Amino acid sequence: PKQFQRKPSWIRVKAPTSKEYAETRKLMRDKKLHTVCEEAACPNIGECWSKKHATVMILGDTCTRACAFCNIKTGRPMAVDPMEPLHTAEACASMGLSHIVITSVDRDDLPDGGADQFIKVIKAIRDMSPSTTIEILTPDFRNKPGSIERVAEAAPDVFNHNLETVPRLYPKIRPGARFYHSLRLLDTVKQVNPAIFTKSGIMVGLGEERLEVSQVMDDMRMADIDFMTIGQYLQPTPRHARVDRFVTPDEFKAYERMAKGKGFLQVSATPLTRSSYHAGDDFIKLRAA
Ligand code: SF4
Ligand code: SF4
Repeated sequence: PKQFQRKPSWIRVKAPTSKEYAETRKLMRDKKLHTVCEEAACPNIGECWSKKHATVMILGDTCTRACAFCNIKTGRPMAVDPMEPLHTAEACASMGLSHIVITSVDRDDLPDGGADQFIKVIKAIRDMSPSTTIEILTPDFRNKPGSIERVAEAAPDVFNHNLETVPRLYPKIRPGARFYHSLRLLDTVKQVNPAIFTKSGIMVGLGEERLEVSQVMDDMRMADIDFMTIGQYLQPTPRHARVDRFVTPDEFKAYERMAKGKGFLQVSATPLTRSSYHAGDDFIKLRAA
């Protein structure tokens, strides 16, 4: 039977208590927005929301896939909300965000996989909050020809799509997806618009070998991916894939050195790194450099 394992001392999270946390929560409720912070039970929510950093999840809260690591609801998704682009832009403007991360569930049910909604959200934010930099974290738009190109043409500042794990573990962890398709997606983004920074990440602790991680980094650099994130997989509920092991902080440091050595512009590799963790701070630092 799948069970929870004890977490090591370095996976510590503070309970969310601050005034800013409560304000972020209220704003998301008022604007009827979903966040991946809540839906995926992200361990960083206390820290991020206290700094008014949230990742808005568009296209509803129900995913058409069921990855073995992910806590998002699966099933029959809701109708696309035509007000979502405006509400997202309003939340962004009223929080005064310098950087926003937008993600979505997979919408294999929609003819464009949800690409048009991403484009509308990008445009709405550009109109209402022109100085905000926009990072999108997209699904793979598999079997939806032209979607990736159109979203790239809308020119988000950062285009993120996670590889999640090494290719060998895809059938077990990410059964609806293909590793090389995801890699090609990011390569396509760069070809359509070389000014966009591309970004991807993996979780570790799922049974991958160090050499496999190194190979994934090489594949990513071949696809010209700029930023990389590496974080510890945490089992969200007993029904999800078990943690194979907890990677130590020193091993994360070694992965960070490895990634930097391979030429990534920006690397975040810590046990609590998530693809949107500190995304704004890191991006602003990079642009200032
Ligand atoms: Fe939300 Fe990302 Fe922060 Fe987690 S790391 S709380 S998903 S912004
Ligand atoms: Fe979660 Fe994305 Fe997989 Fe859907 S496709 S289950 S949102 S990881």
